[in-house]
Amino acid sequence: MTARENYLEQKKRREDRIKNDPMFKVFMNQEKRWIEPFRIFGNVYYAGDSWVCVHLIDTGDGLLLIDCGNCGNTAMLVKAIYDLGFRPDDVKWIILSHGHVDHVGGAVWFRNMFGTKLYLGEPDAVMFREKPEFSFIQDSTDFLDDVFEPDVCIREGDILTFGNVTIRCYLVPGHTEGCVALFFDGEEDGRKVHFGYYGGFGFNTLTKAHLDEYGDTGHLMWERYAESIEKVADMPVDIFLGNHTENNRFFEKLDTMKQTGSRDCFIDSTEWKTYLLGKKEELKSFVAKQKELG
Ligand SMILES: [Zn+2]
Repeated sequence: MTARENYLEQKKRREDRIKNDPMFKVFMNQEKRWIEPFRIFGNVYYAGDSWVCVHLIDTGDGLLLIDCGNCGNTAMLVKAIYDLGFRPDDVKWIILSHGHVDHVGGAVWFRNMFGTKLYLGEPDAVMFREKPEFSFIQDSTDFLDDVFEPDVCIREGDILTFGNVTIRCYLVPGHTEGCVALFFDGEEDGRKVHFGYYGGFGFNTLTKAHLDEYGDTGHLMWERYAESIEKVADMPVDIFLGNHTENNRFFEKLDTMKQTGSRDCFIDSTEWKTYLLGKKEELKSFVAKQKELG
């Protein structure tokens, strides 16, 4: 094959994929999702885009990220870290909310470049090994992207310390088996808050077809999702950190912050429980509809 023939063949392959693969479109042109990074409270900052959250925590002994963006989004994350006044080579640890393509984007790059340690809920590490297709890594626009072995598997009840930050971790299976919920304390000017993070709410992985293919032919994940919500809904949470921006009235709060110049709008001690219990109710109707499908 000549170089020209090879070029034309590869070009057609790219064009066909852009035209025919609906997920491919989602992962293109990440820059359209850029938003200015900002401090939320204390040592916790927002470094994500308009769709997928990334949180940066300055632990006093290096930076911790919760998630690292969409595949294809790493350059934007690096810019966000610099814009916040930090350096990407200070990212010592990344906790991944769950093992999906839209949350693990920069993970391998950070590890290869800076030796960053990657933390992932143990069931999703098993999924990476045994059923990598359920990571949707195949939707990435970079054909070299693949799943990976995390440095640390997160287990139920783990208490992890990073610099001066201690994080209590729970497994909250539902959206994936290895979703993690995280709880830690923050302080700013003598005010203390509890942060809460829930690592995935989407029902897209809870259709009968999806669960059957995953191997959960009894659809036990519907009940496990509800149990996960019940397990952590009563945790005291003053600042609810989203997994996606749709979770926590993100843009409403961002507007309020810009209008008032105050970040107090991020503190709401009722939001966590209200949102989680709302999801549990939504799940009931979702499951009812799935059952009607026969
Ligand atoms: Zn997901």
